[in-house]
Amino acid sequence: MNHRFIVEESKRELLASLQRRGIEQKVLDAIAAVPRECFVPPSLYHRSYEDTSLPIGHGQTISQPYTVAYMTQQLDVRRGHRVLEIGTGSGYQTAILCALGAQVWSIDRIAELSKQAQTILTELGYSPSLIIGDGWNGYPDAAPYDRIIVTAAAQEIPMNLARQLAIRGKMVVPVGESDQSMYVITRVSDSEYDVYASAQRFRFVPFVRSDTSAANSSAGQ
Ligand code: SAH
Repeated sequence: MNHRFIVEESKRELLASLQRRGIEQKVLDAIAAVPRECFVPPSLYHRSYEDTSLPIGHGQTISQPYTVAYMTQQLDVRRGHRVLEIGTGSGYQTAILCALGAQVWSIDRIAELSKQAQTILTELGYSPSLIIGDGWNGYPDAAPYDRIIVTAAAQEIPMNLARQLAIRGKMVVPVGESDQSMYVITRVSDSEYDVYASAQRFRFVPFVRSDTSAANSSAGQ
């Protein structure tokens, strides 16, 4: 059995299925450009293009390809946009944002995941700014952002993050308890926001509130 062949075949099948499910060409091109197999644990290499989330250690997951594609499409990223991502995880979504020409800041509370993501992203020639820490309060140092993407489930709309959006900026965030709707929040003025929630439901690991030291001492389970 030739694993490399299986991976290439399944990548083609995945792209076709994403297209059937309404994903636009620009996002398909970014997914085609980024090797997801580099972001999954080596033992799961042969499953790189299954349309499922996969474990990446520390109780976290690399998101399902359809979810990444859907969120990226909702985010409407343009070349040169300043994008903040909360939840670097494997770095796969970060790479997709870079492939679309965005300038990316990405935060994760788990140092090991961030460091691993940094190594892979550098090898692939992407240069986002990765930050280790609690993303609860966003990253004010580089605000305002054209786009914010949260890749962990929030229990309510994180308005503290929305306030780091530029006017006409957009945030995509899964909101809910056991499963989530995808919320798209657009900042229409200094004090007004438009809110849209998808009928489709998704399943994310929780957006947790903690400082980095607490996260490090509970990691490795
Ligand atoms: N985009 C990632 C998804 C990773 S899962 C991928 O495709 O691989 C969600 C990530 O959010 C986890 O790595 C978790 O550590 C991180 N996370 C959860 N709560 C956080 C918080 N408060 N601050 C920063 N990162 C957080």
